[in-house]
Amino acid sequence: MHLVIVGGSDAGISAGLRAKELEPDVRVTLVVADAFANFSVCGLPFYLSGEVPDWRMLAHRTLPELEAAGLEFLFDTTAERVDAVGKRLHVRARDGSATEMAYDRLLIATGATPLMRHIRGLALPGVFPLHTMADSFGVDEHLRAQPRSSAVVIGAGYIGLEMADALTLRGLEVTVVERAPSVLRSLDPEFGRLVQSELERHGVRVHTNAEVEALEAQSGRLLVTGRPELTIHADLVIVALGVRPATELAQTAGVELGSAGAIRVDAQMQTTVPDILAAGDCVETWHRVLGTSSYIPLGTTAHKQGRVAGETAVGRSTTFAGTLGTQVVKVFDLVAARTGLRDADALAAGFSPHTSAFTFWDHKQYYPDARQLHVRVTGDRRTGRLLGAQMVGSKHSEVGKRIDIFASALFHGSRIDELEQLDLSYTPPFSSPWDPVQMGAQGWLRDVATGQIS
Ligand SMILES: Cc1cc2nc3c(=O)[nH]c(=O)nc-3n(C[C@H](O)[C@H](O)[C@H](O)COP(=O)(O)OP(=O)(O)OC[C@H]3O[C@@H](n4cnc5c(N)ncnc54)[C@H](O)[C@@H]3O)c2cc1C
Repeated sequence: MHLVIVGGSDAGISAGLRAKELEPDVRVTLVVADAFANFSVCGLPFYLSGEVPDWRMLAHRTLPELEAAGLEFLFDTTAERVDAVGKRLHVRARDGSATEMAYDRLLIATGATPLMRHIRGLALPGVFPLHTMADSFGVDEHLRAQPRSSAVVIGAGYIGLEMADALTLRGLEVTVVERAPSVLRSLDPEFGRLVQSELERHGVRVHTNAEVEALEAQSGRLLVTGRPELTIHADLVIVALGVRPATELAQTAGVELGSAGAIRVDAQMQTTVPDILAAGDCVETWHRVLGTSSYIPLGTTAHKQGRVAGETAVGRSTTFAGTLGTQVVKVFDLVAARTGLRDADALAAGFSPHTSAFTFWDHKQYYPDARQLHVRVTGDRRTGRLLGAQMVGSKHSEVGKRIDIFASALFHGSRIDELEQLDLSYTPPFSSPWDPVQMGAQGWLRDVATGQIS
C-alpha cells in the first residue's frame, strides 16, 4: 500500500507517523512544497523575537528522525493535480520537471494560505505575511540588512499580537492597525481592551477601528496609509489578516468543499472522493458544542486530524471528536485564552446564553505575587450547560491550563454546577481551595439564580 501525503507540516507528518506506527509495511511518501518538514510554525514569532536563537530549534523532529520512522520525502516539489480515477498525483519539482506518482490512498494536508487582500502595495519589499519558514527568513534578513526602527502590524489577531510582542522585543517601535473596535476579536471586547492596555504599556501604538488601504515605497521606507486619516512610516510591515483554506489541489480531484470553502470531510477525515483523505488547516472542522462544521484552523486540531487520517489510511476506524476552538496567546506579560462559544455564537446556535464576568486572585492573596485573573463564563440559562469561557491574566497565573479545565468540562458536555465538584489541586502559592475556575462557575450559578443576567 502506498500512502501519498501532500504537505509536510502538522497534519501531514502526524498522519504519516501514525500510519507507519500502526502498519510498518505501508510505504509513506510526503510531497512537500518547501524543504522544511515538521517545523513548528507556531514558534516563528519567538524565533523572530530572538527568544529562540536558531530556527533549527523549531523542528518538532529532525529529518533523520523522520526518515528513521520510515517516512520518505520529496522536497521542493509542488503537487499540481490529482487524477482521482487513475489514482495518480501530478507533481512538479522546483527545477520545473514534472512527474506523476501512483497512490493507493492520498492525504491532502496543504494547510492554509494567508489572506492578502484589499490593500495596495502588498508586494513591496519589506512587506511580509508570517505563515511559513521562508516568510520568517524574509523578515529576519530584512531586519538584519540595515538598521530598522519601526514596524506596522496589520491585523490584531493572535499572530499579529505575537508579532507586535516579538518585534518590540527586537527593539522596533511597533504600531498595530486593526479594523475591528478591539484587538483579539476572538475574545469579548472587555478582554480585548485589557490586552490593548498591555500592548500600550509596552510602547505599542494601537489603532482600532482603522483600516490600512495602501502601502507605498518612500525614501527607502514604507508609507502606510488608510482610514481614518492613517499615515504611518515604517521599515517593515507584517500582514496578519487571517487565512483561508488551501484547496486548489483538492479541487482538481473533484472533492466537495464545505464550511468557509474548506474541504468537506467526515469524522474519519475522508473527503467525498474515494481514497482521498484530508486534514489540517485545509479542511472544515466539526465543532463539538455547535454540532456543525466550522473553520477554526489551529495546530492542535491539525495534529489530531492528521493522526486520525493516518489511522483511516491504514484501515482503522478512529474518528475526530471535534474542536472547541480552545486557544491561548501570550502578549508580553499577559495571557489571553478562550474555549467554546461566546454569547453571540451561542445565541446564533439556538442556546439561551448568559455570560458572567469576574476578577479573582490567581492564588491565596497572603502568599507573595498574587495577581488578578479575569474570567468570563458562558452557560446556557435553560439547561445550565457550560458553553464557553475566556480568561485574561498574568503569564504566571496558569491561564492556559486553567482554560483547559473549562475545555475538558466542555468536551464532556458538563453543566456549570458540575465544575464546582471537580477535585482540583490546591496549595496557597498556586490556587485557592476553590480554584478561580470553580469560583467563576459558582458566580455564574449565583447570577443566574438571582436573576442578575443581561
Ligand atoms: C505564526 C503562526 C503562529 C501560530 N501559532 C499557533 C499556536 O500557538 N497554536 C496553534 O494551535 N496554532 C498556531 N498556528 C496555526 C498552526 O500553525 C496551523 O494550524 C498548522 O500549522 C496547520 O498545519 P497543517 O499541516 O494543516 O498546514 P500547514 O502548517 O500550513 O502546512 C501545509 C504544508 O503543505 C505544504 N503544501 C501546501 N500546498 C502544497 C502543494 N500543492 N504541494 C506540496 N506541498 C504543499 C506546505 O509546504 C506545508 O508543508 C500558528 C500559525 C502561524 C503561521
